[in-house]
Amino acid sequence: MIAVFHKNGLPLTDEKGSALKRPIAVPRCTAPLYVPLSLGGPAQMAMLATDTPVARGDVLFQDAAGFPTLCPVTGTVRTYTAVEHPMYGELICAVVAPAEEPGEVQKLEIGSHPDKTEDGIITAARRAGIVDELDGRPLHEKLTEWQNAGYHIVADAVEAEPYASSAFAVLREQGEAVRRGLKAAVQATGATGSNIAVCAVSPFIKQALSEKFSEGELYFAEERYPVTVYTAEKTELVGRIGVQALVALHDAIETDVAPADCVITVAGDGVRESQNVRVPFGTPVQEVLRVCGVDKEVAAVIAGDVMTGTLLPDISVPVVPGMTCLLVMSSVPVAENGPCIGCGRCAEVCHKELLPYEIGRRLENMHYDELSFLHPEECDGCGACTWICPSARDVMYAVLSAGETDGPIFLNWGGNEDG
Ligand code: SF4
Ligand code: SF4
Repeated sequence: MIAVFHKNGLPLTDEKGSALKRPIAVPRCTAPLYVPLSLGGPAQMAMLATDTPVARGDVLFQDAAGFPTLCPVTGTVRTYTAVEHPMYGELICAVVAPAEEPGEVQKLEIGSHPDKTEDGIITAARRAGIVDELDGRPLHEKLTEWQNAGYHIVADAVEAEPYASSAFAVLREQGEAVRRGLKAAVQATGATGSNIAVCAVSPFIKQALSEKFSEGELYFAEERYPVTVYTAEKTELVGRIGVQALVALHDAIETDVAPADCVITVAGDGVRESQNVRVPFGTPVQEVLRVCGVDKEVAAVIAGDVMTGTLLPDISVPVVPGMTCLLVMSSVPVAENGPCIGCGRCAEVCHKELLPYEIGRRLENMHYDELSFLHPEECDGCGACTWICPSARDVMYAVLSAGETDGPIFLNWGGNEDG
């Protein structure tokens, strides 16, 4: 089942709004954290006994490949529990009660014995337990994969969707750490070059970043969603890393501190004003909403942005790497689909050069035998066709359904089962 209802019915215009101009807030979170043990693999057994005091940076868990989960706060491990997370599946989480005071930070002891060789940087990424917010993959795995393979490395702050601005906020406030993290990633991989990619959906973004970075460091994507070009270089070997992961890499190497928190855009019509907040990994989403002043019932919370987000069936789930935006909705968005007017815009924006309206039409008319010529299986679910459709039809759902189904299916094209 493809969860798509939130792709329709929400405003798709630029909604970055006040979050762009406000500094990152650092509210005090007091609720117990649900720290996922080993995001990279299947649920694992815990290591520490319950009621064990822990410091920020202590190893809570290490998987068979030596990839650690480090404690994001000083506190006490109360218990362990399984959480069904819509972004990662089943996670075993350590429930950690934060201490009243921040307490000591357990150092990684990387920077005090600086080993700035290629392998030393990759080892630092592994020991710091860095997970890239772009794709949920351990950073050291990506760096290893790209080593000496001719990659161009991009610090990806594109955020082409309407609400998210957490990457922009990190770039603006921690630009030097991003720059140095990127330099380390280039060194570790022997990359051919690098740049920071941004989608300047607002002139404010362009101006703010142009003051911080030189022209050669930045690449302003000319496309809107979905962005497929991240550099002016003519190369297909582009390795993208999230800016929060790059700050974490810099911190691991230069300050001996592992990442403990992440920056999230909290937006949508269920909040008074959108803002970017910094919270520890493992903070329950409902605690994030509480510290952001959401004191009323909300109808829906979407982890992610309009096009790629996931509806949260339960807001007690923890914040994990990759949850860079939370959309808080006061009502469940409902699509109002109109008929296809044959404008062709869905085909114009399709970066796979498919004919989404034609695939939908053949489905509607049950011409299943002709579908294979249109190659719906090549659709990667970017959602641009749904985004652009003036009749608010869920074109992507039609194409994905056609691509996933071998035999005839019966589809209410333009309807939306979830909406
Ligand atoms: S969702 Fe699929 S059909 Fe629609 S624009 Fe993207 S790749 Fe093309
Ligand atoms: S964008 Fe929408 S209305 Fe236009 S051709 Fe595609 S499906 Fe039809």
